[in-house]
Amino acid sequence: MSNKEAEKSTEAAPENPLADTRQLISPEIPNGVDRRSFLMRTAVGGAAAVLTGCSASPEEKTAKAVATATPAPQATPSAPPLAEDLYVAMKSKGPVLTTVDEFYKVGPGPSSSHTIGPMRITYDFYQRATKLPADQVAKATKLQVNLFGSLSATGKGHGTERAALAGLVGNEPATVDPKFLDGLRDKPDQVFPVKLGSKSIDVSLKDVIYDATKGDFKHPNTMTVKLLAGNDVLLEQEYYSVGGGFIEWKGYTPPKKNAPKYPFATMKELRTHADNNKTTIGKIMLANEMSITGKSEAEVYDWVDKVINAMVATVKSGLAMPEDDVLPGPIKLHSKAATVYKRAMDEKYQSDRGIGVLSAFALAASEENGRGHLVITAPTGGSAGVMPALVYGLLEVRKVDRQKVREGMLAAAAVGYLCKHHATLSAAEGGCQAEIGVASAMAAALTATVFDAPSLVVENAAESALEHHLGMTCDPVAGYVQVPCIERCAFGAVKAWTAYAIASNEIASRHRVNFDETVVALAQTAKEMNSKYKETSEAGLALSVVLC
Ligand code: SF4
Repeated sequence: MSNKEAEKSTEAAPENPLADTRQLISPEIPNGVDRRSFLMRTAVGGAAAVLTGCSASPEEKTAKAVATATPAPQATPSAPPLAEDLYVAMKSKGPVLTTVDEFYKVGPGPSSSHTIGPMRITYDFYQRATKLPADQVAKATKLQVNLFGSLSATGKGHGTERAALAGLVGNEPATVDPKFLDGLRDKPDQVFPVKLGSKSIDVSLKDVIYDATKGDFKHPNTMTVKLLAGNDVLLEQEYYSVGGGFIEWKGYTPPKKNAPKYPFATMKELRTHADNNKTTIGKIMLANEMSITGKSEAEVYDWVDKVINAMVATVKSGLAMPEDDVLPGPIKLHSKAATVYKRAMDEKYQSDRGIGVLSAFALAASEENGRGHLVITAPTGGSAGVMPALVYGLLEVRKVDRQKVREGMLAAAAVGYLCKHHATLSAAEGGCQAEIGVASAMAAALTATVFDAPSLVVENAAESALEHHLGMTCDPVAGYVQVPCIERCAFGAVKAWTAYAIASNEIASRHRVNFDETVVALAQTAKEMNSKYKETSEAGLALSVVLC
């Protein structure tokens, strides 16, 4: 906070914020709500209001507490299990077959599961609809998207309806102009024609429906898309946005791929390949990428370079934003990347510079995500500040060899693949440990690889970064990927560096916890985490922070 802002906030605060404690408790307990839960929730909301000097009205506090209090007699403590036939939920999936062009996706923020995934889904449906026989299409009158679960609970804050509409009218995440999405936010009544053969169907945001937030869904991020002729359904598909921009649908089977040269399903197996071949994890991943996709080394690195360049660009554009820029949404959050960077570069604070600039780079990329600008899933949009911070710092500040960064990107991808393979990259399934935690582990592996660490040190660094995010919940305030997400990216980047610093200084063989064990802990913690802390904005900061 600048001095000016600090003065302003002091001015705004009441003289004695705890003088009127009546605000802590709302007097009436609505029907059907557990008394203890209701009182605790109103107390938390009220206390936050009093302490921050932001007073929500009693009606607002009551409505919020009713909406989130545990209904009597008891709420479900954790989300229902994922349907077993979802590929993302299957236990034995064989070796990892994910490839970098599937994993590192460019698309509009703020959330890979709530913007990039839904846009890919509606674009997929649009393509299916264009393939229908002409006589069927001729009858079509309407396209309709229904959002369920977490997509419905927090979709408004993420702009899911705009992303879904953009895909429906034929936009892909990597090439959509962010101005198109900004335009929809500023003028939500716009109507767009969707051409299906000779037929043209008008669509608008009204065709994207925020449906049930709770239910027996196969995945917390479920949506359906329909092509209708009056009340008759011409085409319908149920989809799942399973995290990191990956999508599945009812009846999905993964695309057939070639076998990897060095098959692995655990970090232990991956590291054994590297050690037996006297090479690095990055080079093993390159060989696998080439055998799975049939691409040449140059083609693989060409894609990796595009991702690296996009990461550098997102940090640059975030740092270039004015210090007092206000991010979209009701939080009215001021950007701070430029301020943190300026201070870090001030000679007075030279001893803090390392952590300062790394934090600034992560804030810059994450704020770009908050603006809905193009970011790179690494592994998700919410965590899109972590990897770029390290990539930018290593390339632009440390001036390391780009080839090392390319290999680091592949080692980092391996870490992400394993977390996806055995646990999750979706906050709706596993909370923030699955996003920022995985991103931090990836960034630690990147850093260790760039500095030529042995494969065991790469594993230890990734393990350590992931371990120290276990249990982290997802509770974005007002459903916007801003608080706690933006600062959390800075912490994830700094923890990645710390993990590398520890791993490269200890005797590697004495590191007590291995990466595979920590991934099991990630999966288990995800499974047992209370569903309110899985991107629903029903608990944690989303409840305690009162917006003025
Ligand atoms: S709290 Fe974490 S997981 Fe949730 S939206 Fe923010 S960054 Fe993503």
